[in-house]
Amino acid sequence: MGKQEDFVLRALEERDVRFVRLWFTDVLGFLKSVAVAPAELEGAFDEGIGFDGSAIEGFARVYESDMLAKPDPSTFQILPWRGEGPATARMFCDIVMPDGSASYADPRYVLKRTLTKAADQGFTFYTHPEIEFYLFKDTPQNGVDPVPVDRSGYFDHTAQSMGADFRREAITMLESMGISVEFSHHEGGPGQQEIDLRYADALSTADNIMTFRTVIREVALSQGIWATFMPKPFTQHPGSAMHTHVSLFEGDRNAFFEAGSQYQLSKTGQQFIAGILRHASEITCVTNQWVNSYKRLLGGGEAPSYICWGHNNRSAMVRVPMYKPNKGQSTRVEVRSIDAAANPYLAYAVILAAGMKGIDEGYDLPREAEDDVWSLTERERTSLGIEPLPKSLYDAIGIAERSELLAETLGEHVFDFFLRNKRSEWEEYRTQVSAFERDRMLPVL
Ligand code: GLU
Ligand code: MG
Ligand code: MG
Repeated sequence: MGKQEDFVLRALEERDVRFVRLWFTDVLGFLKSVAVAPAELEGAFDEGIGFDGSAIEGFARVYESDMLAKPDPSTFQILPWRGEGPATARMFCDIVMPDGSASYADPRYVLKRTLTKAADQGFTFYTHPEIEFYLFKDTPQNGVDPVPVDRSGYFDHTAQSMGADFRREAITMLESMGISVEFSHHEGGPGQQEIDLRYADALSTADNIMTFRTVIREVALSQGIWATFMPKPFTQHPGSAMHTHVSLFEGDRNAFFEAGSQYQLSKTGQQFIAGILRHASEITCVTNQWVNSYKRLLGGGEAPSYICWGHNNRSAMVRVPMYKPNKGQSTRVEVRSIDAAANPYLAYAVILAAGMKGIDEGYDLPREAEDDVWSLTERERTSLGIEPLPKSLYDAIGIAERSELLAETLGEHVFDFFLRNKRSEWEEYRTQVSAFERDRMLPVL
């Protein structure tokens, strides 16, 4: 038993923990949890806790269903909303097979594998997500339009604001779980909020995003409201993004930084952006995995619809922010296509893989888009070499299916399951007759 495991076992006694929840994430990004008694933990650290993998979305077929959840002691935290004495704690798990090998179906493993590949080349991948979400007055009901908790907009400060109270409580809870928050504000849509987490290595960030979603939902329920990370809940208001600022470090040196170059961006940084752009269409299926994701990408509200990069250009899919011109170590690249309902493990794996491909193959960075690319004509965009992002889940799947990069990064098992699942989501959606069609056609046809 290592030091971290010992620390956890001691903390269980000191904090009077009666339940330990073992958390992991399915292929679509839903959190799974099994509670174990503290006495079971030594065994869990050694061998894992067995469960039926075939009952988890994307994990296994029925005839090869035995899997084990092995807790990662470095992720031990008390769950503040469950109270103290007795307390409930949680740890994220790695999924292993009965022979002890890592499960190819585990999204956390997909990310770990991709991070290890980058680490073999000397790089650590850091991420800093800006997470947007809506708050509604009530629990959603089929067929009823949701009512946002306020009518405020971007950066609004309103007296007695429900959103501000909500953010304060949620941030206090996140901080008590060791998740640092850098900024928070009201976003553009009514009831829409944004909370930005401090940068951390991508595995910690992905774990933190899973915890974040849970905390936000818990706090909303405790205040009698509802939180949603749905990418585009309203036709007329902006969608919810999960812009992610990314950087590569070599030791404690930011590999994207080079003093004196344009935007202080090193060759490595340029190639990384070039990789993301060249493979953007292939990875969109993962960074924007729902039918509804494409309503956001094509619906305005500052969401990117075209594959290009820019500096101070919010219509670009990738942006190089320059808030602090003299702080070289904070040089980073903002990926703006990814939405708030992506599986963070898979999404960060494919973004990193695309960027690394740019470095490995020495891709050239295309010219920067200086204009608002939405307002250009189709012809102007074509002449600038600016391609659109996939326009629907259907388009995105078609492109993803032919992507070697995606198959290699996700691994055969996740790649197959994921695309099969997305195809069936599309097929189900495609056959639905919508209110849009009825409203348009019934009165006139
Ligand atoms: N909500 C916008 C989107 O869906 C992003 C707004 C912003 O620039 O922060 O992409
Ligand atoms: Mg925002
Ligand atoms: Mg942003």
